[in-house]
Amino acid sequence: MLEHDVLVVGAGLAGMQAALHAARQGASVAILTKVHPVRSHSNAAQGGINAAMEDDDPWEDHAYDTVKGSDFLGDQDAIEVLCSEAPETIIELEHMGVIFNRGSRGQIDLRAFGGQARKRTCYIADITGQVLLHVIYEQLMKAGTQVYEEWFVTSLVRQNDAICGVVALDLRTGALELIKAKAVILCTGGSGRVYEPSSNALICTGDGYAQAYRAGAPLMDMEMVQYHPTTLPSNGALMTEGARGEGAYLVNAKGERFMERYAPNMMELASRDVVSRAEQTEINEGRDIDGCVLLDVRHLDRNTILQKLSQIRELGLEYEGVDIVEEPCPVRPGMHYMMGGIKTDIQGATFVKGLYSAGEAACVSVHGGNRLGANSLLDTLVFGKRAGMSAVEYARGITDPNVPESRVEEDREHIGGILSRSADDGERAAALRLTMGQTMHEHVGVFRDHAGLTQAQNIIATLKERYQHVGIDDKGSVFNTDLLFALEVGLMLDVAEAIVAGALFRTESRGAQFRTDYPDRNDDDWLKHTLVYQGDGGPRLETLPVTITQWQPARRTY
Ligand SMILES: Cc1cc2nc3c(=O)[nH]c(=O)nc-3n(C[C@H](O)[C@H](O)[C@H](O)COP(=O)(O)OP(=O)(O)OC[C@H]3O[C@@H](n4cnc5c(N)ncnc54)[C@H](O)[C@@H]3O)c2cc1C
Repeated sequence: MLEHDVLVVGAGLAGMQAALHAARQGASVAILTKVHPVRSHSNAAQGGINAAMEDDDPWEDHAYDTVKGSDFLGDQDAIEVLCSEAPETIIELEHMGVIFNRGSRGQIDLRAFGGQARKRTCYIADITGQVLLHVIYEQLMKAGTQVYEEWFVTSLVRQNDAICGVVALDLRTGALELIKAKAVILCTGGSGRVYEPSSNALICTGDGYAQAYRAGAPLMDMEMVQYHPTTLPSNGALMTEGARGEGAYLVNAKGERFMERYAPNMMELASRDVVSRAEQTEINEGRDIDGCVLLDVRHLDRNTILQKLSQIRELGLEYEGVDIVEEPCPVRPGMHYMMGGIKTDIQGATFVKGLYSAGEAACVSVHGGNRLGANSLLDTLVFGKRAGMSAVEYARGITDPNVPESRVEEDREHIGGILSRSADDGERAAALRLTMGQTMHEHVGVFRDHAGLTQAQNIIATLKERYQHVGIDDKGSVFNTDLLFALEVGLMLDVAEAIVAGALFRTESRGAQFRTDYPDRNDDDWLKHTLVYQGDGGPRLETLPVTITQWQPARRTY
């Protein structure tokens, strides 16, 4: 029998940080991941991580920028934790061996990022996530934490109102196992692939959202889906906001720096929701170049581009055939990040006993309606640590859960059903995923309205129906990626359902949710979070007040 005090699902930054800090408490901890830890999507983070590092930059200013960026939907107690613990988090990373870029005095250098009144983003060229992830992985190996590498959680095990383990598939052998745990921490990352296109890796399928939802935990503010202003048209890959931080322009077909009309003070460095809406408006009104605007860095020093933006230069060359040193690059808004997620408190606890969450999977909520660039890496580390420590504390008070081995049978049956059908006889998961992704992009993207959302709701319901007949051609048990994909699509459909439900419910415009039929922010009725539970007849919606500590809602301009 596989058994641990604390099982962390997901080995991105949030998961590894949670496991590391849980292990330091002396608990029996294991971490389980569907890919090798350093292949987690955290690896793709480019631009940096925020912290008020300078003496004349109080953390409260970082917090206010975050509150304003969230369109006043972020919970201010959580934002205070995020920003006040940021500087020590950076120093801790540095002591572990992270080689941040340096300024002329040898201090950690900072770059400008969107929605912030001053430079506050620590970085390592445009490969920040990769460096952080590798350094934390070294620490995890040093701590000797057990890693279930290339294992896939199929469901959470809930008994007597508490989570007491998971059912997981060992991808190397095809064996389905019960892993008992006194506490489970979901650090399963975001769900970019629910949309098509997306800046997210193919593994970002939101498994944790769906599994928590199915286990009775509510998801919060799922309608808040961030579109990043600079993604490539060919495949949705990201061109870091660090480019605009270094001074890049956005221009339309007429050669105008159009942000002048939308955010005269912050221009290209307004918050992401504002810039994405501005771009989409330019595109919709015909001032586009083949559905895109242009990202122009040609006026920057060549060495700055080569040293600090080398990865995006490569991306431009590889996917668009554009050398950003010589030519502007076409970009457009693309699905990038989930502000919403599994509702947790500031210790990472969800509404279900024994279940914790951190990172993009969780909604604490520090990002509210719109996340500031470079606040997510910070979120993973600050709240990953807290979730790890509080899960250990909870586990100490629990006696061994008594979970029958037979609990795996339900999942075995579901998998058996998929294996028993061929893709030709049944439904093909790839086709369902593509229709879902395109539907979400079309109707639940930058601009939304009741008619489009209702259409999306109906299409997702039909896809869920069709999913009952999904079949695959690979019947093997070793590394059956066909099966894995089919299981992920089933989970993604639940995530899509929750996003659409939230977007229909919130009849106002705030942050990333812009309803053309309700174009104003409505603090009287909607200064609150949406909570979605999985009910018998579909999603059940509730609301929760926003926690306000020191900053009253104000009009938001950039
Ligand atoms: C291209 C890109 C660039 C970005 N740049 C920045 C940036 O510069 N600054 C910033 O702050 N943020 C950035 N972000 C956002 C940030 O990187 C992510 O939000 C953050 O890294 C998420 O970390 P995580 O630990 O929550 O999840 P992830 O790193 O996504 O890890 C998820 C883990 O869960 C595991 N998992 C998932 N489902 C299962 C399952 N069913 N069974 C087993 N394991 C499972 C995966 O194997 C993986 O290990 C960027 C995001 C992208 C996509």
